[in-house]
Amino acid sequence: MTGTNSNRVNFGTVITEEIIPKLEPQQAESLYQLGKDLIIALLNSAPVGLYIVQDGLFRYANPRFLEVTGYDKDELIGTTSLDLVYPDDRDMVRQEAVKMLKGERSGEYEYRIISKSGQIKWILETVSSIIHEGRIASLGHFMDITERRQAEEALAIKSLLLEAATETTLNGILAIDNQNKIILSNRRFQEIWQIPQELIDAKDHEPVLQKAAQLIKDNPDTFMKDVHSLFQQKEAKERQERWLKNGQIIDRYSSPLLDINGEYRGRIWYFQDITERKHAEEELRIKNSALESSINAFAIADLEGNLIYVNNAFLKLWGYSSSREVLGKPTLAFWQLQEKALAVIEMLKERGSWVGELTAKRKNGRIFDVQLSANLVFNENEEPIYLMASFNDITKRKRTEEALRESEKRFRDLVELLPETVFETDASGSLAFANEAAFNTFGLSPGQSSSKSPVLQIITPEDQGRARDDMQRILNGEKLGGIEYTAVKKDGSRIPVNIYASRTIRGNKAAGLRGIIVDISRHKQIEKELKETLNKLEHSNTELEQFAYIASHDLQEPLRMVASYTQLLARRYQGQLDTDADEFISYAVDGVHRMQKLITDLLAYSRVSTRSKPFEMTDCETMVDQAISNLQIPIEEASAVITRDPLPSIMADPSQLFRVFQNIIGNAVKFRRAMAPEIHIRAEQSAGEWVFSVRDNGIGIDPQNKDRIFTIFQRLHGTVEYPGTGIGLSICKKIVERHGGRIWVEPNDGNGSTFYFTIPVNGNS
Ligand code: ADP
Repeated sequence: MTGTNSNRVNFGTVITEEIIPKLEPQQAESLYQLGKDLIIALLNSAPVGLYIVQDGLFRYANPRFLEVTGYDKDELIGTTSLDLVYPDDRDMVRQEAVKMLKGERSGEYEYRIISKSGQIKWILETVSSIIHEGRIASLGHFMDITERRQAEEALAIKSLLLEAATETTLNGILAIDNQNKIILSNRRFQEIWQIPQELIDAKDHEPVLQKAAQLIKDNPDTFMKDVHSLFQQKEAKERQERWLKNGQIIDRYSSPLLDINGEYRGRIWYFQDITERKHAEEELRIKNSALESSINAFAIADLEGNLIYVNNAFLKLWGYSSSREVLGKPTLAFWQLQEKALAVIEMLKERGSWVGELTAKRKNGRIFDVQLSANLVFNENEEPIYLMASFNDITKRKRTEEALRESEKRFRDLVELLPETVFETDASGSLAFANEAAFNTFGLSPGQSSSKSPVLQIITPEDQGRARDDMQRILNGEKLGGIEYTAVKKDGSRIPVNIYASRTIRGNKAAGLRGIIVDISRHKQIEKELKETLNKLEHSNTELEQFAYIASHDLQEPLRMVASYTQLLARRYQGQLDTDADEFISYAVDGVHRMQKLITDLLAYSRVSTRSKPFEMTDCETMVDQAISNLQIPIEEASAVITRDPLPSIMADPSQLFRVFQNIIGNAVKFRRAMAPEIHIRAEQSAGEWVFSVRDNGIGIDPQNKDRIFTIFQRLHGTVEYPGTGIGLSICKKIVERHGGRIWVEPNDGNGSTFYFTIPVNGNS
């Protein structure tokens, strides 16, 4: 063996130096030729690249080498071998070459070359030294390992990417193999589940699971069970939400890891913190349900004006039963005047918002008024994307406003029609309102203001102090009725007025006065005239009574004389003169008697007011009993039966009350029919007065004479039939009226009549 490579047999050397010299020249020649042809064929067809470099220059390159490098044989042979090497790798290749030349054993090494087309290729090379043309050279053979290197690099990058992706993702990741050993996890996973590094390093997934379960809020056992069941049914995919004790919500997704053949190789979990998303969803849900339950109608449309959302209130207001009926429809369809609605949409797009009133159209065609508040909705790039509006049904409000206007007009018209002054002052003291009469009478018109209240201004200086005090009292909340002052009219004349005023309240504070000024000159005039007439009447009445009294009183004396002499005549000459004279005398006596009776009654009538006594507590039972005993003779003659209920004590003039009972009971006995009179007396209290009644079964009274009989001298019968003067009931009327009561008669259902009179319970003078 020769050459520097001691333990390697150099095939070429063996042939050239050991076999060939021993052959016959002819044999050798043909063998040599054979070997040479064989080698050339081998080299040409070798799947590895082969080359010979001597003195740093290429001496030989086989077709595979040329194929890999891309050069022609002619281009390559004679060029510097290192030129082919990628610059970064040249040092290494040079060192390897030096090592080899020094006789060191050459190994395999990898480096890069640059092909003719500029491609960088990875080469796995083995170099050995040979003797070429008598001198040492290196024989290299190599394989193109570019693809393998690329695959390795891709793998390295992939694993880097995986690592980066695993660490940078916001999801927690945990993967285990089919032995339940951890093969992948990231920091986020540890953070979410608070897993210490040692547990991850230990690779066992069970303690990791235990630790995670401690954080589960509701039921850690179910959590464990869920996870374990996934190991049993390896194919299962699962997504679940997990609530942690600290309020976090974790979205957990688990999927099996299957290889290319579908074999189970492990399982991977993704954990995502969806707390915020959940809260946002919740908020959205709340907002949405608020919108749905809102009493305000609400709608959203796209920029073309087609509805994409409406709430329940909208459907209700417009009379639809389902949003399917309206979604996608143009908003214009919901308004009475489409042009107006279109203009609103245009303005909305222009200005970004619009508030106003529109007349809407219900599904059934009926119209109603709404107040609309609309906005544009923008995306994050400040581009408008939707139209949004809320609606309020203001039909009722409009109707109320109209009714209010109507009512305001009604009252204003009436106030303007009033002949009396109507005014209102405000907090500043100026006239907030005054009607036409205010101007016509006092020259007051709204807006007037002065140092004095405009109302005080029209009061005479003498009354102003009092008026100011009164106004203040009213402002303080006192309620005063109409107060009388003297006012000065526009023309300077003075008139008496009554002012009725109340304060106006604004925000819990007295703001001013509102009132009416009534001209009472006419009332005053009438009052004055009435008083004068009354005075005159009283005067003449007194005169009349005096006359009646004097007349009846003074007539009594001469009458008594006439009476006694006619009686004397009758006694002394009865039967001594002729029969005519007897008759005349008896007429004269009778007439005198009647005149006496008349005069006594008239005197009694006038004495009701002249001889009246103060009222005192009077027992009516005593009065009635006395009257009955006074009437004893006629009662017995008529066989009258008189009964009475218990009677009260009242404030009265006793002798006058006695007279009333006597007159009425006396009449009841006198105006009887053929049968015996039955008379009943009673008293009932009602509405602050005693109502006395005397019921008889006598001849009764024609209702048309009910009032006449209480007038003096009025009688319904001749004196022959029923004697009397016609004064009794007039006296009763006068007495009852003096006591503050009334007297009247009612026919009974059957026979007779009932006389009533009242006396106030508390007395009345
Ligand atoms: P006189 O009894 O003197 O006629 P009065 O003033 O008492 O006068 O009565 C006036 C008239 O009223 C009587 O004339 C009589 O016609 C009528 N009158 C009064 N009381 C009764 C009675 N109880 N029933 C029927 N008529 C009566």
